[in-house]
Amino acid sequence: MLAFFGVFGNPIKHSKSPFLHNYTFDKCAETMGFYGIYRRILLENANLLRHKFLELGLSGANITLPFKEEAFSQCDEVEGIAVDIEACNTWVKNDKGIIGYNTDAMGFYQCLSGYDIKNALVIGAGGAAKAVAMILKNNNIPTTIINRTESKLRFFIQKGFECYVSADFSQYRKPYSIIINTTSAGLKDTSLPCEKSILDTLLTEAHYAFDLIYGTQTPFLSLAKKQNLIVQDGRDMLVFQAALAYELFCENINPNYKQTSDKHSFVNSTALMKEIDKILL
Ligand code: NDP
Repeated sequence: MLAFFGVFGNPIKHSKSPFLHNYTFDKCAETMGFYGIYRRILLENANLLRHKFLELGLSGANITLPFKEEAFSQCDEVEGIAVDIEACNTWVKNDKGIIGYNTDAMGFYQCLSGYDIKNALVIGAGGAAKAVAMILKNNNIPTTIINRTESKLRFFIQKGFECYVSADFSQYRKPYSIIINTTSAGLKDTSLPCEKSILDTLLTEAHYAFDLIYGTQTPFLSLAKKQNLIVQDGRDMLVFQAALAYELFCENINPNYKQTSDKHSFVNSTALMKEIDKILL
């Protein structure tokens, strides 16, 4: 059988998801029992997300910027941590309808394997910050959020996080094991996610620095490297969230998927990782 998948976003030209999924669908088709095809889908009108998904006859999809909140409200059921995050990045179609999930959160958390984290500081309060903060909270890691704009902190205050506007933060600052940049500062410019003087002190006291941005070394990670912290960019998170979505897609079509030896081929494939590094360069 043929099964169709896609990633909805706007813009979507830059998305690496088709590469990750098609590479693995091709590699595993024989044992999977179906052939998967995964495409980029540019969506102009957020209201049409559900309609497009059904019209295209998709078995599953990923949803990226700026439609993750719409993906949450337009599906029939929401599973797992997506309920708390109030945003979905993965849809699967089954006989109950469209089921929404959030794999960004666990994708991020899997990157921290082996880290000893007592508490965390998340810089930024957008969609990615919600996924990161909620999975840290669910794993009992005390987490503080700071953001440039106060209004974006409302979600986090309601969920019980300690929150500050970045500009006011220096007076409340304390040591954190890990500093996580979830802002887009440094993606297309040379800006830091908050004032350098605050970052300098935070990084001196921290053990780890994590930047969700991938494919470029951000000024934030450069600064952390200079201070000899253990640093990580968003590449593995990208791969892990895709691998978790891939598992949901496959389990839905092939109930025996959990038992197949291909289950971990997505993340354990050295060949795939090498290919990813090539396309991220
Ligand atoms: P949003 O647009 O929802 O949020 C952007 C956040 O960045 C806001 O908090 C915004 O602050 C802040 N921000 C933007 N520019 C600056 C700046 N110059 N200085 C300080 N703060 C700034 O985006 P997302 O949360 O969805 O994504 C954020 C980043 O995470 C992106 O770079 C994205 O590529 C990356 N990402 C990576 C993933 C991965 O798998 N590796 C997965 C998901 C996201 P304000 O509220 O003040 O505007």
